[in-house]
Amino acid sequence: MKIEINNLDKSYGSKQVLNNINMEISEGMFGLLGPNGAGKTTLMRILTTLLHKTGGSVRIDGIDIDDKSKIRPIIGYLPQDFSMYSNMSVYESLDYLAILSGINDDRITRKKRIINLLERVNLERQLRTKVRALSGGMKRRLGISQALLHNPKVLIVDEPTAGLDPEERVRFRNMLTDFAEGRIVILSTHIVEDIEFTCENLAILKEGQMVYQGRVKELIEKVKGSVWTSDVDREEFNRVKRNYNIISTVSEGERVRLRIISAEKPFENAFAIQPSIEDAYMKLIREVN
Ligand code: ADP
Repeated sequence: MKIEINNLDKSYGSKQVLNNINMEISEGMFGLLGPNGAGKTTLMRILTTLLHKTGGSVRIDGIDIDDKSKIRPIIGYLPQDFSMYSNMSVYESLDYLAILSGINDDRITRKKRIINLLERVNLERQLRTKVRALSGGMKRRLGISQALLHNPKVLIVDEPTAGLDPEERVRFRNMLTDFAEGRIVILSTHIVEDIEFTCENLAILKEGQMVYQGRVKELIEKVKGSVWTSDVDREEFNRVKRNYNIISTVSEGERVRLRIISAEKPFENAFAIQPSIEDAYMKLIREVN
């Protein structure tokens, strides 16, 4: 199973927000990374058939995206602003959504389906808890169970770790990795770390253009030998900051530790270091214009 995106365009009036996107996504976790406004949500909404493309073609498991009635049953979606009725219990809200989404089970079968899902997302003990009493992480997990109600082949999640504490974030990522077995899970985020620990492949969008698609490992390879660190005083810092591509700065008393991208050794007191995917991402995002 795969998703094939060819020459995809999307405009709002005269504003083009996706520009000739070509992608192939196969089973497993796929990261969609890009700064705010890059077009990630637009792309995901097109994949879920909530939004019409302007041009190009998209096929999911061989089915054309315009064939909505065949596409919808194979897609699950957790939008960024997902919420449920806060007065319902966890069980009630899933039961309600199952009925709304036309799942044709009788009550007993539906119950089995829901309990099974809640076990998978580790919420079985919150069955009777009101939605409003759930933690941020639990709400996200409930969101995932909603997206998985009809057992879709493709799960799309938009910025799922926003607002989660570090422990919940790790747990959530692990859960997605589990679901990716035999499915496509598309994880959209502007947080590099989310992708670094979960995805083998990713695409990077910037201002509606795809600036990278491939393996996470190969992305790091692109900046090997071009990342440097240096400890400088404030005066030197003011001098070098205008001339170099500085990825990060850490103040340590009077001195500043810099992380710099440069094809050559930038200055005497700089040392080459092992690049991270964040370095490669920052380089790409700043480079392409
Ligand atoms: P991301 O999810 O990467 O933050 P979006 O897909 O939400 O990016 O937005 C991409 C661009 O499209 C942004 O410039 C945004 O302002 C614009 N945009 C999104 N929705 C609309 C709309 N309904 N009308 C006009 N412009 C829109």
